[in-house]
Amino acid sequence: MTDKQAFQLRFATRNELANLPWFEVDHDEIVLADKTVGPVIDTHTHYSLPTLPIHQIDLGAETPDSNLLLARCCAHHLDIRANQCFSPAELKALKRDLIVGGFTGRGKRPDHTAPNLARDMRSMNVVHSVVLGIDMPMPNKHPERTLQTARLRSEVTGYGSVHPRAIRSHERFQEQMHLGARGMKMHPPNQLVRPDAPSAMRLYRYCGDENIAVFWHSGPAGIEPKIGQYFGQMKFYERPIRELPNTQFVLGHAGSLQHREAIRMQKQYKNAWLEISGLSLAQLKEVIDEADQDRIVFGSDWPFYHPVLPLAKVLILTHERPQLRSKILHDNAARLLEMTGNR
Ligand SMILES: [Zn+2]
Repeated sequence: MTDKQAFQLRFATRNELANLPWFEVDHDEIVLADKTVGPVIDTHTHYSLPTLPIHQIDLGAETPDSNLLLARCCAHHLDIRANQCFSPAELKALKRDLIVGGFTGRGKRPDHTAPNLARDMRSMNVVHSVVLGIDMPMPNKHPERTLQTARLRSEVTGYGSVHPRAIRSHERFQEQMHLGARGMKMHPPNQLVRPDAPSAMRLYRYCGDENIAVFWHSGPAGIEPKIGQYFGQMKFYERPIRELPNTQFVLGHAGSLQHREAIRMQKQYKNAWLEISGLSLAQLKEVIDEADQDRIVFGSDWPFYHPVLPLAKVLILTHERPQLRSKILHDNAARLLEMTGNR
């Protein structure tokens, strides 16, 4: 394999990634230029993040700029974790947008729509995306609105979400399945629940019985409040994977800062998958070198990040390894979606 140091790894803006051999700038947007790359499946995306239900963001509207949380003018460095690309001031603005925007419906959320997601994905030859709802421990209709939008669009598959301790969690998830949910997203740090809570275990078992996947945010990311870091500890993820071998578990962000724990679990349990969004190039190299390469899937975490950010890392690390490249970018996710009764 070519030494990764042969490639530029630090970019002052998103469009600067066009310095890499696979991309170019077209109408001021970074696009994939190398037609041999892809097709790609992105297993980790969201429409506008949760707000109070009184705010009706039009998820069907196309707007000129996707206005991603890591903005086009921000540094896009590959040798650090994605969330380290935010400067201290940008991180403050991000947190303000996530929290204040959740209560007011303002900020960047109105640009995180289905047509904008589709446009950014097309630009990178992403042919299918999994869109994840997130049920927060506050009133919200995020999963339902995600699913209602996703079901009208052929380029996405919607996953639902219920807080494990919500009243009627089972019935509510069944309703989401009627809206087309083909998986369940769980976010322990945001939901303030341990992934091995008994109420969560019951939901995972149900997902296994219904042959749909569980998609977790996994591991501490380092930028969340201390309490969230506790709920994201990788040691809490092992029991569900071990005790429920008929449920497929996707470890979103591949364990984040605890990627080595996630790699160990993925190797040990055949029902564990690693999704790679947010990892640094060095972490991703460890995932590729050490984990089972048949259960690594691509993800961007749009609207946090443009898919070019993780794609650049995969392309560098799979340079001159075309089979491995198509496994990670497409084939593994296609198999997962098929296994979980989808498409
Ligand atoms: Zn996410």
